[in-house]
Order: sequence, then structure tokens, then C-alpha cells
Amino acid sequence: MSKNKNPTELVSELRNAFNSGKTKPIGYRIKQLNALKRLLEENKDEITQALADDLHKCKIESLLMEVNFLICEIEYVLMHIREWSKPEKPPTTIANILDSVYILHEPFGVVLVMGAWNYPLLLTLSPVIGAIAAGNCVVIKPSELSPATSKFIEKSISKYLDADSFQVYEGGIPETTELLKEKFDYIFYTGSTTVGKIIQAAAAKHLTPTTLELGGKSPVYLDSTADIEVSAKRIIWGKCVNAGQTCIAPDYLLCPKSLQDKFVTACKKALKELFGEDPKSSPDYGRILNERHVQRLSTLIEGNVVAHGGEVDFADKYIAPTILINVDPSSPIMQEEIFGPILPIISIEDAYDAIKFINSREKPLALYIFSNRKRDIEQILLNTPAGGVTVNDTIMHLTVHSLPFGGVGNSGMGHYHGKYSYDTFTHKKGVLHKNLGLIGETLSCPRYPPYTQANLTYLRILLAPGLSLPKKYLTHLMCFGLGVAFFYIVKFIQSSLIEQ
Ligand code: NAD
Repeated sequence: MSKNKNPTELVSELRNAFNSGKTKPIGYRIKQLNALKRLLEENKDEITQALADDLHKCKIESLLMEVNFLICEIEYVLMHIREWSKPEKPPTTIANILDSVYILHEPFGVVLVMGAWNYPLLLTLSPVIGAIAAGNCVVIKPSELSPATSKFIEKSISKYLDADSFQVYEGGIPETTELLKEKFDYIFYTGSTTVGKIIQAAAAKHLTPTTLELGGKSPVYLDSTADIEVSAKRIIWGKCVNAGQTCIAPDYLLCPKSLQDKFVTACKKALKELFGEDPKSSPDYGRILNERHVQRLSTLIEGNVVAHGGEVDFADKYIAPTILINVDPSSPIMQEEIFGPILPIISIEDAYDAIKFINSREKPLALYIFSNRKRDIEQILLNTPAGGVTVNDTIMHLTVHSLPFGGVGNSGMGHYHGKYSYDTFTHKKGVLHKNLGLIGETLSCPRYPPYTQANLTYLRILLAPGLSLPKKYLTHLMCFGLGVAFFYIVKFIQSSLIEQ
């Protein structure tokens, strides 16, 4: 681990850079985003090696799920940044017909982004894209639990990005505790719900706003109308990507008991297709982060009926893709987020039973519904909370740039990706630019004392939300007014001439 700067000095340096205004021009932001894109494109080998060292991730999975995701996100932001950063023109009432009313987008200032170890590059740099796009200075804190990726981020950020505005701070709990004493203008945290509460408490001391991307148990609902083979393949893939260490991995399956055997058979077939006869020797199957987590996961398997897998190799940090059947909802595996390649199956009667089950637990980060019964899909969607949903697949809602990504309740607060990332790191400053002329003052008059009932009636009309008029129609209105005035003047002159 590199030697960090003193946190107070670090934040003060970045604050000076922010106050200099250098991060605000759109050209600067675009240049930094392009530099970040180059960082990813020019270092693919080093990145995939670091991810293999940290998590035994295979090269293609690293490129697909981390590097390419980031590149696509940068490209998407670059396509839209000019349009997003323009001041917004909201509708107004007649009271402001002569004024300018607009919303300026203001960066928060110096923001802290804390990443997690399971997708250590993606989850650290993806929020940074939004923070740069919005014009902030950033302290980037990668997870100490993925040290090779943390080192890579530290080394490459200083090489590619403007060091005045973007700095990496490495370390574990003691270093993070020190860093969190500083006053940031925004904190974006990805990690567990337990630590999320510590981050929120530290932020509250400075009234710093936060986004918390947390975890939880993401349920899957499956019924007999779904294609079981395709569903099993998609569910087991979602469970086994990164050896189950994915925040939106399907955590457990709810299905009628009559489907259980068919589903398990389909999963076995799918696992053979994905990882061959022995997943341990497949180059595409990952490993668990450390021995503590292997121990935790092997304890969770204990006491359950194993329908498939169950093999644990502590030395290799390997846990086989494992399916547990007839699981008791009160068993330990149903009390915490699994974060490993183990899928417990719980029997339920129908969609209504599933809704009751999901609602009796903390709000999940993701929810997956496998069904072709439109009414049941609708009922589940409308009656259960979740950060995000994919119907008839797992994980994939994450890949849609135009969808907000984030949790709700215990699984987090706030959201990001695409425009939502830009908005997250942007303060929307409302501006009313009043007219100082005589007509403007006449319109404003009724608000001054002495008050009368007439003032109240007049103001009620002026401020009525239904009586709004888009600014672009102001000239039309003036022309109409002039036309009416002209008409009456002509009529007046005509009648005067006739009288004479
Ligand atoms: P974690 O919360 O244990 O640790 C995250 C970081 O917080 C650590 O790297 C450490 O630097 C810091 N930290 C830990 N304890 C601290 C303390 N007491 N005081 C100050 N700082 C402390 O999370 P993790 O193990 O890295 O990640 C796993 C969890 O993250 C899972 O629950 C997973 O679901 C969740 N997650 C969520 C998302 C999402 O997008 N919502 C993505 C990935 C992971």
C-alpha cells in the first residue's frame, strides 16, 4: 500500500483546486473523462492481472463485467454531458412572466467515493465518472480487500487524471476512519449495510449528503409458466458470476414445491454447460475472497439438504456451485446476505405467498421474477419493494444505462448510472432573475402592505399553478395584446370620425 497524504492536507488541496474553478468548464470534464477511458483501454492486461490476483477472475469476465462496463458508461456520459449540463428551464406562473427562471447545475465540491472489493475496478470508478462529469474534485478510496486493484487504481489515476483534482487514498478501517473525520461535500459509498451505517453517522457530523449502495438478500420468484431450462440457466449464471460475490446476485429462490426437482435437474445441466464436469478446474469459475468468507459460507451450508455441490476447499478458497432444497426460512442461511455460490430453495404456494414472504423481510437490492403469467408479474411488481427488478433474467437491469441503479431501505439510498450518476453529484440551484422595470414592479405591488382582500385575490391568480405560460409564448401574448389594442384604437378613431 502506498503512503497516503495526511487526510486534512489532501482534502484541503482538492478544495483549493475546486475553488480555483478549474473543474467547472465542460471542456475540462470531457478531457478528464477521455483520460479515464484511455486509462482503461491502455491497461487491459494489467487490470485483468490485478483482478485475477485479487479474485481469481477470468480475463473475459473481467473485461466484460468491469472494463467494458466502465468504457460504455464513459461513452454514454460523453454523448450526453453537454445536454445534461445545460441550465434547465422549468415552467412558471404568470407572476414570473417577465422574469428569467432557471435551474443551474452546480458541482458539490470535494466528494469521497468508496469502492467495494467484489468488482473493485467497476464499483470504484463508475461513481467517479458521474462525479467528474458533474465537475467535482474526488478522493477515491478503493477497497483494501482487493489490494492489487487498489494499487493499480492508485498508480494509474495519478498518471492519467489531473492530480490537482483527483487523488487516491488507500487503506483499511483505521485509514478510512481518519478520512471520514474530514468534511466532504458528498460521500458515495458501496459496501455492506453494517458499514453503511458507520459512513452515514460520520457524514451526519458534517451534514454531508450520501449515496449508500448496500447489499441484502435478493429474492427470485419462479412459477410453472416459465421455461424452466432457460430460467435455471439464467438464475445459476447470476448466482455463479464472480463465485456469487455480486451485490445483485440472486440470493434465494421461491418456487412451488412441485417445481423443485425439475429446477434442480435443469440447474445441473446448465452448470455442466457453463463450467464442465468440474467447476473447480474451469478457468471461468472464480474463488472466494478470503478464508474468513470460505469459513462463513461453509457454515451456512451446514444443516441443510444439499441437492447439488457442497464441496469446499479451504486451501483453494473454492466453494462449488451449491443448491440447497427444502430450506427452512428461519435457518441461518436465510438470515444474512449469502454473497457466495449457494442457492437455497424455499417452497411457497403461489405469487401471493411469495409477496408475503418478500414483504416480511428487509427491502432487497434486486428482485427477479421468472413467469409468463402477466397478472402475477404485475402483482409482484406493484406489491413488493426492491432497488431494481429484472423479469425473466438476473443481473441484467444493471446493464441498462437509462435505468437508475440503487437500493431502498436496508439495501441503500440514492441511485446512479448514466444521467442518474450526473444528477447524484450535481446540486440543482434554482435561480429567479427578476425584472426591475416599471411593469415588473406593478406586477409585484400586491405583495406589499398595507394588505387588502384585493391583494390576496390578485396574488392568488398570479401564483395559480394552472395559469402557467411557457416563456416562448410571451412574444405571442404581447403581439396578441398589441393586436387587441390596435383593434380598439382603430374602432375608437372610426367611431370618432362617424360622430363628426
Ligand atoms: P464492507 O462494508 O465490509 O467494507 C467496505 C469498505 O468500508 C472497506 O473496504 C473498508 O475500507 C471500509 N470499512 C469497513 N469497516 C469499516 C469501519 N468500521 N469504519 C470505517 N470504514 C470501514 O463491504 P465489502 O465487504 O467490501 O462489500 C460487501 C458488501 O457490499 C455486500 O453486502 C454487498 O452486497 C455490498 N455491495 C453492494 C453493492 C451495490 O452496488 N449496492 C455493490 C457491491 C457490494
